[in-house]
Amino acid sequence: MEEQERSLNFIEQIVEKDLAEGVNNGRIQTRFPPEPNGYLHIGHVKAICMDFGIAEKYNGVCNLRFDDTNPAKEDTEYVDTIERDIRWLGFKWGKIFYASDYFDALYDLAIRFIKEGKAYVDEQTAEQIAEQKGTPTEAGTNSPYRDRPVEENLRLFQAMQNGEIEEGKMVLRAKIDMANPNMHFRDPIMYRIITSHPHHRTGRKWNVYPMYDFAHGQSDYFEGVTHSICTLEFEVHRPLYDYFLDQITGENFAGLSPYGPDYRPKQREFNRLNITYTVMSKRKMLQLVKEGLVAGWDDPRMPTVCGLRRRGYTATSIREFMDKIGYTKVEGMIDQGLLEHTIREDLKETAPRVCAIFDPVKLVITNYPEGQTETLVAENIDGHPELGTREMTFGRELWIERGDFLEQADNKFYRLSPGGREVRLKASYIIQATGCEKDADGNITTVYATYDPDTKSGTEGGNRKTKATINWVECSSALDAEARLYDRLFAVENPSAEEGDFRDLLNPDSLIVKNIKIEGSLRSELNLSAQRSATDNGLSSANEVVNYNHYQLLKQGYFVVDPDTTAEHLVLNRTCSLKDNYLK
Ligand code: ATP
Ligand code: MG
Repeated sequence: MEEQERSLNFIEQIVEKDLAEGVNNGRIQTRFPPEPNGYLHIGHVKAICMDFGIAEKYNGVCNLRFDDTNPAKEDTEYVDTIERDIRWLGFKWGKIFYASDYFDALYDLAIRFIKEGKAYVDEQTAEQIAEQKGTPTEAGTNSPYRDRPVEENLRLFQAMQNGEIEEGKMVLRAKIDMANPNMHFRDPIMYRIITSHPHHRTGRKWNVYPMYDFAHGQSDYFEGVTHSICTLEFEVHRPLYDYFLDQITGENFAGLSPYGPDYRPKQREFNRLNITYTVMSKRKMLQLVKEGLVAGWDDPRMPTVCGLRRRGYTATSIREFMDKIGYTKVEGMIDQGLLEHTIREDLKETAPRVCAIFDPVKLVITNYPEGQTETLVAENIDGHPELGTREMTFGRELWIERGDFLEQADNKFYRLSPGGREVRLKASYIIQATGCEKDADGNITTVYATYDPDTKSGTEGGNRKTKATINWVECSSALDAEARLYDRLFAVENPSAEEGDFRDLLNPDSLIVKNIKIEGSLRSELNLSAQRSATDNGLSSANEVVNYNHYQLLKQGYFVVDPDTTAEHLVLNRTCSLKDNYLK
């Protein structure tokens, strides 16, 4: 794909300004902070391309940080797949961190906040706390526990951590300002109790876990992040992010970062990615997976990275897509057609072409010797001999598309019809239909034709022009295959904006399975799959991605071999059709 000059996005502009002003001595450090509670989706990739992209472009480093502060939802399965998917996208992190690495440091900070009168233990219910929040125009109400003595707060917080207090019975809140116009300042929760689930890394060591707002900025700070880039919904959290950092930097410097009292990470926000006809929430995706409404996280209809990969998307095309949509401060919805356009442009250049017949009818070439076959050579991509060739078996009996023959046709029909025009069989000979045979119900069972041996493609006679070229597959060498034709997962453009249950909005025709005939050259895929028998769903034992081959099935679309393929059974997923509606 051609490199296009593009202007700097607004985050790059901020970074260049910081560099020019010598902020942080020119050090650039970002992080990608997924919560390991689900698989990465294409929305995350937008953040990944930003976080890793900034580090790559400005000689900085991007670390991977698992934001693992909620043991009830997190798991190492997710940690592994997140790492694998980032590698597959082609990015390299500096180090791997976990928010749980900082549980001790954060706990100590919480104690410090309590001692400084900046935090208190509240034993109201979540509902009571919510009721007291007020509204953006109305001040909230102070908790009756707000002015507990420091000693009591220390004792209770300790009791929370010791497992002496039941989940949900107490929280630690920052004592800030219940009348602040920014609702996030109205005594936000710093810590909650979770005893119902062990943590995937720290086990049962902790009974209290920090909330996002208390964990994220400090984690950035401990690591030395300079630009903490996230999505726009965190913009309203930014003052709180800064508030917590104010308490431990500058004149309050607590020595928790190697970069000195003046170093401060800065949060910056860009617009989330939303794509039509899909959902991008891990909670909803998990529900689809758990309820069997899709075949798994890597179902080719899912917007997950592993789903897109299995659908046939390449890492290059996904990154190209991110480049195309860019980064702004305006929320919007991206047409799924643009994503398809991007992969189509990629595969157009690379995917070998093969013949496949989706609705087969038999064609007998009556003047071709019985029992004989011959091998023809066809270019993988027409007009690109440098991209290689493949062998096609030709013989007396072929499969062709039912729709390519009409018993009675007018002269606008350019394909096969008895007494009609000459038609070229793709990359082989010119034929002319002579008749057909039907069953008792009048369905055509066999088409008859004659061929002209002097018209073989690649020879002089091959230059003879016809109005139409049709696809074919030789019967004795043909392979039966399963083609999975995928369409958009949801029937409506923005399922998240609709009333009612999102599951009722699924597209009932998002998967159609067809049994097709495909040319024998694809037998190589069966052999490959036999060699891959030890792999599981496209993953090698080393947790690396196995790449499957892409093909253009002529006139049908771009397809990729599916990991369900066995030594006997070829399965192909349609990545996208050939028709590009996006450019219209
Ligand atoms: P979800 O709502 O699906 O659970 P999340 O935002 O909670 O997603 P995280 O694992 O916390 O998921 O996200 C990690 C990073 O990816 C965050 O910086 C977040 O801003 C970013 N991110 C998540 N979804 C999108 C999206 N749709 N577009 C761009 N960035 C996203
Ligand atoms: Mg999140």
